[in-house]
Amino acid sequence: MPAPAVKKDKPSKRDMTKLVYNFYILTGTPPGWKHLPHLPFSKKRVIDLFGSWTNLLTTAGVPLNRYKMSEITCFLCKKKVAREVKEIRKAKKSFCGSACSASFYTKGRKHSEETKKKISETLKAHRIFTSK
Ligand SMILES: [Zn+2]
Repeated sequence: MPAPAVKKDKPSKRDMTKLVYNFYILTGTPPGWKHLPHLPFSKKRVIDLFGSWTNLLTTAGVPLNRYKMSEITCFLCKKKVAREVKEIRKAKKSFCGSACSASFYTKGRKHSEETKKKISETLKAHRIFTSK
């Protein structure tokens, strides 16, 4: 008796998440129902195994929508770069990269450390002066 043939139109849950993920990597776009003709499974299969398309994408680790991008001007070097809108809203100042933000914030810290040093030196000098 021959073993029951595995139907090609019935990929496993894991196969489907892999297919959807690969589709996303190849195209750079999270697939939707409209991309179903390019994928080797049916809408019914998605509903049966995942309940919804969103669940399939979530299980596959595909982001549901691409982040809205907007152009910002770096606070330090004035370079224009694309940034996620939600990141812009969160940040008080926008920088083109970690190099600019780091140098901006380090500069600020260095300055206050120098000020602290000056104050403590002044205090020391004062103490020496008064102890005499
Ligand atoms: Zn910059």
